[in-house]
Amino acid sequence: MKIYQFPDPLLREKSLFIKEIDGSTAAFMERLKDRMYVNKGCVGVAAPQVGELKRIVVVDATGHKKVPVSHGLLLMANPQILAVSGSTINREGCLSVPDYTGNVERGDYVKVKYMDKNGEEKIMEADGFEAVILQHEIDHLDGVLFIDRVKNTKRDLFPRKNY
Ligand code: ZN
Repeated sequence: MKIYQFPDPLLREKSLFIKEIDGSTAAFMERLKDRMYVNKGCVGVAAPQVGELKRIVVVDATGHKKVPVSHGLLLMANPQILAVSGSTINREGCLSVPDYTGNVERGDYVKVKYMDKNGEEKIMEADGFEAVILQHEIDHLDGVLFIDRVKNTKRDLFPRKNY
């Protein structure tokens, strides 16, 4: 799966809602998960990053130093933030923005509704960096990149050596 990179205009599109999880959608979610694990340290990927304008994200914060307790692997269709609160600033990176990392302010807590791989509606809550990851990935579905949320590009954007 090819990763689309900034400034590809596809990354700026709004992704489409998933009506139901059929076999091909479930298989796509699995492939997206496999793609996430290709890059060591990658904690999430959204469908538009591989050129599919579908509201699907995969997240796995397991083992991340900023996530002492994680929900493990999450395969989400139509993820929607129902509530957000608090504030936290973290250094973010993105497979689609390979040359930079940036300090981004986001909510410190989210409540998210989504459909899982079996088409079941779920609601979960996350805080800290796992909440940040979810907000970052869900942003992709609306064509928003973390660099859009960096307040001061001179002060808060940093060249990245490797990804
Ligand atoms: Zn990203």
